[in-house]
Amino acid sequence: MKTFLKIILCVGLVSLLTGCGRQSKSPAYSVDTAMGTIIKQTVYTSGDAKEMMEDIRQEIVSLEEDWLSRKKESSAIWQINDQAGAGEGTETDEYLWDILEKIYQVSEDSQGALDITIGETVQLWNIDEYAAQSGSAEDGMSFRVPDRAEIEATLSRCGYRKVRLEEGRIYLPKGMSLDLGAVGKGIACDKVLEYLKEQTVVQGAVISIGGSILTYGQKPDGSAWRVGIVDPWDTSSYMGSLVLEDEWCVSTSGDYERYVEKDGVRYHHIIDPSTGYPADAGLISVTVLSKDGCLSDALSTACFVLGAEKATVLLEKYDAYGVFVEKDGNVILTLGMEKFYESR
Ligand code: FAD
Ligand code: MG
Repeated sequence: MKTFLKIILCVGLVSLLTGCGRQSKSPAYSVDTAMGTIIKQTVYTSGDAKEMMEDIRQEIVSLEEDWLSRKKESSAIWQINDQAGAGEGTETDEYLWDILEKIYQVSEDSQGALDITIGETVQLWNIDEYAAQSGSAEDGMSFRVPDRAEIEATLSRCGYRKVRLEEGRIYLPKGMSLDLGAVGKGIACDKVLEYLKEQTVVQGAVISIGGSILTYGQKPDGSAWRVGIVDPWDTSSYMGSLVLEDEWCVSTSGDYERYVEKDGVRYHHIIDPSTGYPADAGLISVTVLSKDGCLSDALSTACFVLGAEKATVLLEKYDAYGVFVEKDGNVILTLGMEKFYESR
């Protein structure tokens, strides 16, 4: 999948020639897939790196299978969707409950720009299906833009305010579904961070889960982590990087991640819930930096839908920082981001 190749991690390579403490001076690397995306791990440890990276992969797979997947029957989200319309609702474990409450708050604070009940409209557009080969004329020809009536019909089955969270149960109206595609990889970063904190032998790590990247701890030489931000016009390159110490999560949402082009128009995968069409608020890429993975992922999607002005206000509320790339090439850093951002 094209997306997979577009996340560029700029982790400075440690020189093997600098002597002392050889064991932990060289990072271990791995690349896997999970959650429909690529997982890249870079870990500095004096322990068994291979085993650790397998544990991390397993944490992500379990998160998908037990909690977040809308396609796998084993997951809590699948069960909630399956029981949509059931009078008694679905009992929801505290772990998922806390996540849903956090997401609900971002929905409220973004006036519904982030809405995990948008799944029915996302499925109607079905951009993912076409995105793998987007750009080819043939692919564009087979893609059909839904008509307004169809979009409105799906929108009537969306809206986070129609979902009730009450006393440990979630009540999802019939015909609606939850889709955690906008937040899942950030949630995975939080899960991996929990794991890393329990590993005393890990000095530092960078874990890239599709569009969300976790940094943790330190490199043995004390230098900072560098997380690249993809150049939306040349996705094999990057326009700058974030220079980070310790724990952060960086999430990017861009119109180049999954899209199809037809008749010269790019239809991408981030839907504006107020219109049912791909968001068009003047941005082509949003990168959000936060201490919380779920929030960084949720906010990057919300900001993309909102546009730079409203997005700036939203990020301030969450003590998060943003890099917004506008369609005309203008790059906007929110207040505080200048401490982290280095352009190429
Ligand atoms: P983000 O901006 O973070 O999110 C965009 C995605 O969120 C859209 O694709 C859509 O699903 C949804 N969305 C669109 N608009 C909104 C909105 N306004 N509010 C809320 N949500 C919105 N992809 C596959 O191709 N195959 C898989 O098997 C697969 N499995 C997955 C399993 C899990 C548990 C999760 C969480 C995701 C899975 N995905 C899968 C999806 C994929 O990993 C990403 O979610 C997708 O690539 C979009 O991520 P992003 O970071 O580019 O965009
Ligand atoms: Mg997101």
